Amino acid sequence: MLLDLKNIRIESLHNDVFATKKVAVDVMRLDEIHPVISGNKVFKLNYFLEEAIASQHRTILTFGGAWSNHLHATSFACQKFGLKSIGIVRGEVPLKRSFALEECQRFGMQLKYIARDLYARKDDPAILDGIRNEFGDCVIVPEGGFDAKGVKGASMIMDLTHENTYTHVACAIGTATTVAGLLSGAVDNEIILGVPVLKGMNDIDARIHKLTNGKADINRLQIIDGYHFGGYAKFNSDLIKFINGCWEDFRLPLDFVYTAKMMSAIFDRIKNDQFPGNSRVLCLHTGGLAGNRSLPKGLLRF
Ligand SMILES: *Cc1c(COP(=O)(O)O)cnc(C)c1O
Repeated sequence: MLLDLKNIRIESLHNDVFATKKVAVDVMRLDEIHPVISGNKVFKLNYFLEEAIASQHRTILTFGGAWSNHLHATSFACQKFGLKSIGIVRGEVPLKRSFALEECQRFGMQLKYIARDLYARKDDPAILDGIRNEFGDCVIVPEGGFDAKGVKGASMIMDLTHENTYTHVACAIGTATTVAGLLSGAVDNEIILGVPVLKGMNDIDARIHKLTNGKADINRLQIIDGYHFGGYAKFNSDLIKFINGCWEDFRLPLDFVYTAKMMSAIFDRIKNDQFPGNSRVLCLHTGGLAGNRSLPKGLLRF
């Protein structure tokens, strides 16, 4: 592993509801690894980075939208390890660049915007060939690290949990690469709880099957649906209230795209008696806090 994982903190959350329901709730603060490279992204990138570091071309090319945590993390990691980075961005050149893309450029990422219809076909071999012709030799990282290498990296998150004998490990789902890694790394009776942050995401099993070549034990996975709050990067006043409440009660900062939706699902499950008594639940804070800068000023109390 390229990063030092010794100092990752696990904190326990306490309130009356958790005590009454006899459910222990811990949070693994992957967000504290680093403000930009934070969370699950660095795990998913690990083996791609290692490959690029060992190569002649020392270049990584990857894909994302204008607000992509993945592009942001990749650009920073590449700068840190002395690699060249190229970001293929979905859509036309915007009038005003997002914070994420501005920082990508600051970290030395070369950006190329492509039309949405072409972007949708970016995994076609013919289009990838075209990209290779244009940019030369490089390690191509699919959007969100959606690849066996990304899964292998994400599985290292589970290595950090085993000593604590959790019954459940909870994580937000975007591309499902991280949960595929968690499933690959799970041992004993650990159950993985996945909370999709996109609306109508009904291909999670198929995604995991593809990512792991059918090797993941899908029976370990429980999907908690209904917490997308309107869809990807959508939010409402309930979600904002929830985020501010977690800050007030636990001094836990959450991001509105992923971790707040995951935590909200877990808290509801506890309230609704959907965990057996004496469950020990580990929630993964997968980062993404930089994304809160896209919210209107003053909404959040941190
Ligand atoms: C990208 C991201 C996820 C989703 O990870 P996937 O592997 O794409 O499912 C979860 N949380 C945060 C904060 C993220 O940035």
